[in-house]
Parts: sequence; C-alpha cells; structure tokens
Amino acid sequence: MLPRPLFIGHEIYRGSSYGRAHPLRVPRVSTVMDVSRAMGWLPQEAFVTSPRAKPAALHAFHTPEYVAALQAAEAAQEVSADVRARHHIGTVSNPVFPEVFRRPATAAGGSILAGELLARGGVVYNPAGGTHHGMPDRANGFCYLNDPVLAMLSLRHHGAQRIAYVDIDAHHCDGVEAAFAGDPDVLMISVHEENLWPKTGLLQDDAGGSALNLPVPRGLNDSEMAYIRDALVVPAVADFAPDAVVLQCGADAVTEDPLAHLDLSNTAHWAVVSALNGLAPRYLVLGGGGYNPWSVGRLWTGVWATLLGAEIPDHLPPEAEALLRALEFKGHRLGRNPPEHWFSTLRDAPRNGPIRQDITDRVAHLRQRWQAAGQRVQRA
Ligand SMILES: [Zn+2]
Repeated sequence: MLPRPLFIGHEIYRGSSYGRAHPLRVPRVSTVMDVSRAMGWLPQEAFVTSPRAKPAALHAFHTPEYVAALQAAEAAQEVSADVRARHHIGTVSNPVFPEVFRRPATAAGGSILAGELLARGGVVYNPAGGTHHGMPDRANGFCYLNDPVLAMLSLRHHGAQRIAYVDIDAHHCDGVEAAFAGDPDVLMISVHEENLWPKTGLLQDDAGGSALNLPVPRGLNDSEMAYIRDALVVPAVADFAPDAVVLQCGADAVTEDPLAHLDLSNTAHWAVVSALNGLAPRYLVLGGGGYNPWSVGRLWTGVWATLLGAEIPDHLPPEAEALLRALEFKGHRLGRNPPEHWFSTLRDAPRNGPIRQDITDRVAHLRQRWQAAGQRVQRA
C-alpha cells in the first residue's frame, strides 16, 4: 500500500503545443505542478517523474504499425496522405507537432506506471492522462494514445481484475468503451454532454453490459451533478465492488470551458473525486479535456488538494496567484479580460440549480438496468 498519494508529472508538458490555432495550445499540467508546488502540496517524495512508454508497452492496445507511424511523424514532422487517411495523424484535430510521439507516450508511460505503483493499493494522480478517445490503429479527438485503456490493462497485469472506470469529461469516452465492451469485469460509467462530438454513448448503449452511459443536456449544473453522483455513480461503483477505480476527470464540463456547454463549477468535480476515494483499494485519477488554461489549472490543482486532504484557502498566497496571473489564452476572447477570481482563488462559487426531469428519468432508467443485471448475476 502506498504511504501517500503520488503525483505523476513531467517537464515535457511545459511549453508543448499542438499548434497556434489548436485548443491544446494552452498550458495545463505545468500549471498544476507549479501551483501545487507553490502551495507546498507537491514535496519531492510525492512526485514521480513519468517514464516514456516504450513501443512494446503501447502494443498492449495499439497496433505496431500505428505506433511506428506516430514515431515516424515526430521524426519527419510530416506525414504522407496514406498515413493521414489510415491513422488520422496530421489532421486538424490530431496535428503533427514537435512532441507528437514523446508527449502522448509520456502520458501513457505515467498511466502504465500507475498500474504498477497501485499493485498493493493506494492513490495515484496522473493529470496528463485521460486521453480517452484514442483508438487501436488511429488518433482520435486530440488523443494519439489511449492511456486510460493502457492504465486499466496495467492494473489488471498487477492484480486488479475488476475495474470501475468513471468518466466525467464533457465528451463520451468512445476509445475506452471500444476497448472494454463486453468485459464482465469492467464497469464504465460516463457522464457527458448529449449531441457533442463524438456523439457516441447514447443512453441505451450499454457496451455489451459493461457501460452505463448518461448523456446530459446543455447547462448541467452542480445540483444535477450531485444528484447523478449520489443516485447513480457512487452506488453503481460500490455495488460493483471493484479492485480498482479509475476516474477520468476531464476539466471541460465547467462553465468556462470553450468546447462544451455544461455549467458545472470545479467543486462538482472535486466532490466526485472525494466520493469515489475509498470505494476500492486502488484509485487512479487522470486528467482529460480542458481548454481554458485557468479553469483547467485551477480544477486539476484542486483535484490534487482533494486527494491529499489539503485545505484549499479562500485566497491564494502571492506566489500561487502570480503563476495564474502569468497565464495567457492567446487567440480566445476568454483571454482578454479574465475575471479576478481566476487568479486569486482555486475554488469556484457553487453553480446550483433545479434538477431537470430529463436527468432524473435517465438516471432512473440506468439504475433499473444495473439493478436488473445485478439480480441476474446473483441468481446465476
Ligand atoms: Zn472532453
């Protein structure tokens, strides 16, 4: 059992960009590392430098041809039309950028290492992970490698058979679902914005009995998320009695995110992080989406504080505030006049509201399905 929660990070994320016009031009993990250090939350003994996964380790989920194409794309800084067509590298969403192999291979290496570190239990955070759209033979939705899948295979390899995967990114986890559909020892729960790319994860799609998919309408508020957490996510995970819980904690479901249309505060995410902690002996928390440099940095730093049980002050000390004040969001209107609380606080004000019937109806539908499935298992 790990004596303390571990944070997996790397300097490769600092200054790395998918390109000037891409949503992933903004700093994310480096902000979390810097602000956590400024807060005194990241002593050396809690920090693990992420290894870079070797191609052979990536072959656990990805095809050798695809991994080789990704390495070749990094070396040449361009791809052929054939590679673009087959592997979707060098597209607008999945561009060739200077670290196009090393960066995702480092995030994947961290997630694979997490499975090993958790062999005897504990809590690990890899905020660079959570690239849940990656497919075996192609890049997809800004994701070149699927580190959540690799993490789950690594957890399996190190003794955790039953795994609950919870995904609260605004987008549906199509790559993870493709990997584990029909696996009786995996429960995947995804809460995502309906009709948003990739438009998979419909309510009735159960991935061969392995998934509870909850598409939610635009404007999802904190009260609704708390209801979903308490009525669906926590009881389903507890019932499943997993050996490990993996949480994909994408930061794009908050109001400030430019790519989605949900209306959560970062406290909604932190409450999910807390509620899942302790439901299994192994707990791995990953990042994911998140495209506003302030909201993602504040949210993910708060995730780490939550895992540590550290108190988040109402007003940040000057060194941490200076880090947030120095961030830039070039080419986006949200970068022009950031509100003062994006610099001076980590915690958003709660965004409560009415719980819409669409949501209670869908949760009731999923509850019925998982309870019926549980009864079948008990009778068998
Ligand atoms: Zn997302």
